[in-house]
Amino acid sequence: MYDVVIAGGGPAGLSAALVLGRCRRRVLLCDNGHPRNEATTALHSYLTRDGIPPAEFLALGRQELTRYDTVEVRDVTVTGAECVSGVFVTTLEGGEQVRSRKLLIATGVRDNVPAIEGLRELYGRSVFHCPYCDGWEVRDQPLAIYGRGARGCGLSLELTNWSSDLVLVTDGPSEIDEKQREHLSRNGISIREDRVVRLEGEDGILRRIVFAQGEPLERRALFFTTGQSQKSELAVRLGCEFNEKGTVRTGKFESTHLRGLFVAGDASRAVQWVIVAASEGAEAAFAINSDLIKEDLR
Ligand SMILES: Cc1cc2nc3c(=O)[nH]c(=O)nc-3n(C[C@H](O)[C@H](O)[C@H](O)COP(=O)(O)OP(=O)(O)OC[C@H]3O[C@@H](n4cnc5c(N)ncnc54)[C@H](O)[C@@H]3O)c2cc1C
Repeated sequence: MYDVVIAGGGPAGLSAALVLGRCRRRVLLCDNGHPRNEATTALHSYLTRDGIPPAEFLALGRQELTRYDTVEVRDVTVTGAECVSGVFVTTLEGGEQVRSRKLLIATGVRDNVPAIEGLRELYGRSVFHCPYCDGWEVRDQPLAIYGRGARGCGLSLELTNWSSDLVLVTDGPSEIDEKQREHLSRNGISIREDRVVRLEGEDGILRRIVFAQGEPLERRALFFTTGQSQKSELAVRLGCEFNEKGTVRTGKFESTHLRGLFVAGDASRAVQWVIVAASEGAEAAFAINSDLIKEDLR
């Protein structure tokens, strides 16, 4: 039996595995190789690694784990997990089942990427969703925000920190009330409700947004806010509680309602950055190891 199974080998899972491996815990880390930021070429705001390609960052993380014979890494999908009499039984793709004393879910989230022609080619280069991650590179440029209602309004107002040339593109009725409309206008943000037909760009750089009617809109980058969901069903199936953002409501050190079950990284709480995911993974690892020590003391 493993001490800990970790589902997901992004920054949160890798960080937890490193701490737990050094705690001499027998760890199985399972990952199926699709981190949330795989579309982007540079990871920002991670102290000492600002600008590193995400794949290189993860490879460094995996490389560090090879120093610890306590950690086993497998490239496999976790298809299910249950807690049977205090023991976690995790099912892997292919049907194999592994048992562990603790389970850490670090499977991240999936963004609802708008299905607009031309967007995928620009995603991660000039189409983003997080100004903290990618705002600096397009500061003072003409930017579009793609979204509706309170969410579209909120991201537009947030982006005033990075540019003063902002257009909120709602691709249909804006769902923005009078008060929000007035707030946007007061901050120099216009709203365009025409249906979006496609994005045009060159070498990954957005040039213009083409609408069903009216003139195309010249823009250098677009930030979208169209929601997200859990990348795996594991937390749902294990009965975790969720907040309004759709992430798991965790307690102290990423603990959950179920003893021995922890959820770290983007899958839990609010701030979704690599450095925060790594930190949450380390916190969960600390709590897991502390619990295991206490359980084993005579
Ligand atoms: C376009 C874009 C740009 C970004 N830029 C930045 C940035 O510059 N700086 C920054 O700090 N943050 C950035 N982010 C956010 C960052 O990607 C996340 O905060 C971070 O990846 C969260 O780490 P995580 O370990 O929680 O999840 P992830 O990195 O998503 O890792 C989860 C891992 O679990 C695996 N997995 C999922 N389900 C299963 C399963 N059932 N079985 C096995 N494995 C599974 C996935 O394949 C993945 O490898 C960006 C996000 C996007 C979308």
